[in-house]
Amino acid sequence: MNQPGRQLLIVYDNYTLKQAVTPDWGFSCLITLPQHQILFDTGGDPSILLKNMQELGVDPQKIEAVVLSHAHGDHVGGLSGFFRMQPRAVIYLPGSFPASFKEALRRAYARVEEVTGPRMICPGVYTTGELGYGLKEQSLVIKTGAGLVIITGCAHPGIVEIVEHAARVFKEEVYLLIGGFHLMGYSPSELKNIAGSLHRLKVKKIAPCHCSGDEAREFFKAYYRDKYIACAAGLVLAIPDLKE
Ligand SMILES: [Zn+2]
Ligand SMILES: [Zn+2]
Repeated sequence: MNQPGRQLLIVYDNYTLKQAVTPDWGFSCLITLPQHQILFDTGGDPSILLKNMQELGVDPQKIEAVVLSHAHGDHVGGLSGFFRMQPRAVIYLPGSFPASFKEALRRAYARVEEVTGPRMICPGVYTTGELGYGLKEQSLVIKTGAGLVIITGCAHPGIVEIVEHAARVFKEEVYLLIGGFHLMGYSPSELKNIAGSLHRLKVKKIAPCHCSGDEAREFFKAYYRDKYIACAAGLVLAIPDLKE
């Protein structure tokens, strides 16, 4: 990869923009900053993750940390393949992850950090901390001069709840909301309520993918118009200047 400054790259998604990049149910996004590379989620299949990384010019060895959103296979399944390539990366996972999963990682000498509340991953990049009841999930937040970039895995705690929490904790408006919104099967009136809530929360740009559902994607596309971004594997988005 020729030295990108600050960017998001979708490595793994249900949809793809490039023929050489395999679409598969799951999500993984690479955050590149001048000094840091962080992988958020790992998709479901190790070989698809590694192949997509290769096609997209991603060098796993340069990735210093992996943030796992939640303990579902379509987000953590690719980790074993990644870990083989880069065993020194720190793995940030919700403290509520199954004990067996954490023990297996530690047996493999992985550097595991258990997340409960919001905390910094590297300068400018934060986790929301684990949210939700039952199955807990963390989202990633990048603090930029244009506002927050929020990246969600499946948004099981609720996409609106995640944005409300991030806006409260990080005290900024939201520049971009990207990732799985988990809105399959939602009715048009439910989608309208959610879009209205996100609008009130001042979400400027929106890029639903993964488990968001085709109806929700179409709905947000019509609602957000030129502020809607068609998100799929292979998508590269520039990250505005960080706010320290
Ligand atoms: Zn999930
Ligand atoms: Zn998912």
